[in-house]
Amino acid sequence: MPDARPLSGRIAIVTGSNSGIGLGVARELARAGADIVLNSFTDRDEDHALARQIAQDCDVAARYIAADMSDPVACRRLVEAAGACDILVNNAGIQHVCPVEEFPVEKWNAILAINLSSAFHTTAAALPMMRKTGWGRIVNIASAHGLTASPYKSAYVAAKHGVVGLTKTVALETAGQSITCNAICPGYVLTPLVEAQIPDQMKTHGMDRDTVVREVMLARQPSKQFATVEQIGGTAVYLCSEAAAQVTGTTISVDGGWTAL
Ligand code: NAD
Repeated sequence: MPDARPLSGRIAIVTGSNSGIGLGVARELARAGADIVLNSFTDRDEDHALARQIAQDCDVAARYIAADMSDPVACRRLVEAAGACDILVNNAGIQHVCPVEEFPVEKWNAILAINLSSAFHTTAAALPMMRKTGWGRIVNIASAHGLTASPYKSAYVAAKHGVVGLTKTVALETAGQSITCNAICPGYVLTPLVEAQIPDQMKTHGMDRDTVVREVMLARQPSKQFATVEQIGGTAVYLCSEAAAQVTGTTISVDGGWTAL
């Protein structure tokens, strides 16, 4: 009989996990038995309530630690405050869309800091903990934009390609130490962030919801279906499993065929 809770006794930190993919990944890791540290930059009652809900639903320990992933010191403090880290999921991310010559410098800096540099800082803080216990899993949430580009997303594409490069380097530095580092590259995932873009796109293109989703948002996703946060979470659970012990330094696309085109 397969172990229903293979991650029991493991502690997982998921950055940017009070909504969307991060929250979905945290839930799937908890369903697999991992204790959870949720994170975002806010410190509201509802953030802490999310952790309580996961603890109750999945019978694991879960807490929420506020830390701004644009701040290198806060990134490292998050890992220290967690006290231990067997599984690190670098998920926090933001987006801004603008032609390169008009791209606001502060947006470029913020995207690089939150989407790329935070993963460097949390990884640097977590690796000594993983080496001490002799086991670790680092899962970076990159994007199809870590493997291909789209116009007007210079900072995001640069950051996500950087995440893939960081992933490969960390994998080489940890090879043979029972620590793996991989990146998941989602295509479009229906998160609240993406859902909120649909009405604007309907207005801009004069299309109904189904048409705008199929023809505009999923134009490059051959399956014409969004990926789900549960599917991203399930992929993370796989990367944390024994079956994936020799999977390291690579990317797994969950993109409905986008990068096969
Ligand atoms: P989201 O906005 O729902 O989630 C982003 C998370 O990051 C939120 O929890 C937010 O609070 C957090 N965050 C933002 N700035 C932060 C900061 N300074 N410090 C700490 N946390 C911060 O969006 P999402 O769609 O769930 O995106 C999550 C990740 O998945 C991102 O890295 C994104 O690039 C990636 N991704 C998303 C899609 C998609 O279609 N939704 C596709 C590919 C990759």
